[in-house]
Amino acid sequence: MTGKVYLVGAGPGDPQLITVKGLWCLHHADVLLYDRLVAPELVEEVPAAAECIYVGKSPGRHPYSQAAINAILVERARCRNIVVRLKGGDPFVFGRGGEEAQALAGAGVPFEVVPGVTSALGVPARAGIPVTHRGVSATFAVLTGHQAGGRDDLNWEALAQIDTLVILMGVKRLPHVIAMLVAHGRDPQTPVAIVERGTLAGERVVSGDLGSIAGRAAAAGICSPATVVIGDVVRLRESLFSSPLAPSIPDRQPSTLPDLQSAIS
Ligand code: SAH
Repeated sequence: MTGKVYLVGAGPGDPQLITVKGLWCLHHADVLLYDRLVAPELVEEVPAAAECIYVGKSPGRHPYSQAAINAILVERARCRNIVVRLKGGDPFVFGRGGEEAQALAGAGVPFEVVPGVTSALGVPARAGIPVTHRGVSATFAVLTGHQAGGRDDLNWEALAQIDTLVILMGVKRLPHVIAMLVAHGRDPQTPVAIVERGTLAGERVVSGDLGSIAGRAAAAGICSPATVVIGDVVRLRESLFSSPLAPSIPDRQPSTLPDLQSAIS
């Protein structure tokens, strides 16, 4: 009998944004493998006896290769463990969860995917930016500023036509992305917002337009993790946050897991 691997999305940052099923997996874990952007509060949710392995990937630093992570998942599951692979956001959005699923399938190890709230949607949403909005945006696309091998084979002509673009891992390459979009016809006055540490304490938002945003981001010292949103929907943020019912970002405290525990018990 082998165990089972759960590929779990932790959500965009705030630990309360994990799913109920994701939290259930943590509570039943024998082994946990987790990434850098996973909230520490979530790591504390596993049983005291569970083995916790930090396989954190910070930009440019990978203590465990993807092959090594795959091998640990297979080996621990074969020892009849419940193995939880906890990843930031959603495991299948720029998270290499698909590769891990392939490795598990290839090794004949049972696994289940537990989707998470991707930062591509959750970070703009909590900052007051809907990625679609009637009459403003009917299409959105998510891309990364950091493509495998540093190549750029994106279809910029098509991307320049999409109402809302969300860019992950895009801070460093933002000037390149902007240059490509403008070269393919996007109006330099298109609004842009960058949300740094979205949904977490210390969240910061810098906004401007395609022409000004790179300079403003550099001046503000914006760094990873940050999500870039490009499109007219960015303008909605002001009207949403001027509502008396809207949460005010500076007042928002990070949520704590004890609340979450009582919410589902
Ligand atoms: N699988 C993840 C994405 C992994 S790529 C998901 O679905 O969310 C990591 C990128 O996600 C970061 O470089 C950043 O662009 C974005 N990101 C993750 N956490 C974030 C946060 N708290 N605030 C803003 N962006 C974040």
